[in-house]
Amino acid sequence: MSTFDTVVHLIYLLCATLFVVGLHLMNTPATARRGNRVSAVGMAGAIAVTIVTLAWHHTVGPTAVVVLVVGLVAGTVAGLVAARRVQMTAMPQLVSLFNAVGGGAAALIALTDAVEHAGALSTSASVTGVLDVAIGGVTFSGSLIASGKLAGRVPGRPIVVPAGRLISAALTLVAVVLATLFVAGHGGVLALTVVTLAALAAGVLLTLPIGGADMPVVISLLNACTGTAVAMAGFVLDSNPLIVAGGLVGAAGAILTKLMADAMNRPISAIMAGGYGTGDAVAVAAGSGSAPVREISVDDAAIQLAYAGKVVIVPGYGLAAAQAQHEAVALAQALSENGVEVSYGIHPVAGRMPGHMNVLLAEANAPYPQLKDLDEINPAFARTDVVLVIGANDVTNPAARRPGNPVSGMPILDVDQAKSVIVIKRSLGHGYAGIDNELYTDPKTAMLFADAKAGLAALLAGLHAYA
Ligand code: NDP
Repeated sequence: MSTFDTVVHLIYLLCATLFVVGLHLMNTPATARRGNRVSAVGMAGAIAVTIVTLAWHHTVGPTAVVVLVVGLVAGTVAGLVAARRVQMTAMPQLVSLFNAVGGGAAALIALTDAVEHAGALSTSASVTGVLDVAIGGVTFSGSLIASGKLAGRVPGRPIVVPAGRLISAALTLVAVVLATLFVAGHGGVLALTVVTLAALAAGVLLTLPIGGADMPVVISLLNACTGTAVAMAGFVLDSNPLIVAGGLVGAAGAILTKLMADAMNRPISAIMAGGYGTGDAVAVAAGSGSAPVREISVDDAAIQLAYAGKVVIVPGYGLAAAQAQHEAVALAQALSENGVEVSYGIHPVAGRMPGHMNVLLAEANAPYPQLKDLDEINPAFARTDVVLVIGANDVTNPAARRPGNPVSGMPILDVDQAKSVIVIKRSLGHGYAGIDNELYTDPKTAMLFADAKAGLAALLAGLHAYA
């Protein structure tokens, strides 16, 4: 190995170390931003070294290097603009689109490699190529559908495709037969293309029937698939940094999938077999439900909060939709300064993407020690004077404790164990799972019908007047 190649491998090793260190730093919100930056430096280094190596070894001609750099610059600009412009509420669908791009790129790598080395691929290269197009194809189309569901362009409810399972089984059979032929050296690019098309169709059929509250699990699973497809592309290209990066994303996504499935309290296999729920529901007029609900004025809510000893804030999707995280944190800070013990109860599937509430509250500089996860906060509700639910619905619905409804079995935040509950939302409208929330008719609960941002600002003003 030449000195140049040795240096390149050492830099790749350093980049891989930066990925691992970055991932480790993402373990806690306090160091997560640094973790992101460290991983990004590792990735930038790996990309730069790869391009230099290609040029150094004349693996590709000068035109190809120019094309690579132009593609890199265009992709970087598009990614930066998309990430900067995106509203926090549209972040989940953007993440899904990034998953799609990763899976699609990985599948294209295997296809171009098969075209380039037609008839001359080793068995191991054929196997990784086939796995790459299969996983990458499913991820690409599945993530596009998931993104459409999250953006509301595709209905969020489970969509049953007539004979969907039969078609999926037939597609799988076709893909397996042609993949075997390809690995055995028959069929060439045509066989691989058919496997890709079957995988694309399977991705659509897999994601359409999953909907409602099961979406977090699907998103994490597709994320794991993106990582795995990228790792396969790394084998195809013989690129160690790609293998390491893809492996890390695949493993992290798989762990997240398990955590999300546990948070929903249902096996991954049951979720993949078909989801439940109806997707986002439109807001309905306040007080239009049949059961009686108690309303509370801003002034009364402010007084109740000001005189509480312990308050737990429970954020949900409505907080993200209203972009009310800064107002929530300002209110919490004012309460703390008043001597009230404040914490935030974070449900793992609150919002529309894994970690959604943590990201929002971190952006608003909520003190990390105040963020409590489900297991930590649930025993504390019985000692809580006031729970302030901000735009959260499904994750607080006591109906989850009973069988026979879309959220049955999902562990919830036991807010109804507190002495009193104030819910800020615009109406009695449903959450993602599309069902009534029994919490709202609990005698302990008072509804403050308002947009979360405006409601919290009014509460803060009220608090200043009474505290
Ligand atoms: P929900 O979707 O259950 O409820 C959100 C509530 O926010 C709605 O009832 C709505 O009521 C209210 N809301 C909307 N806009 C505003 C606003 N501007 N101001 C105040 N309130 C508002 O949210 P949860 O966080 O409780 O639960 C998340 C759900 O989403 C779960 O079912 C989960 O499975 C699912 N999901 C989660 C994903 C994830 O990865 N975390 C991904 C996909 C789905 P109203 O209209 O009356 O204001």
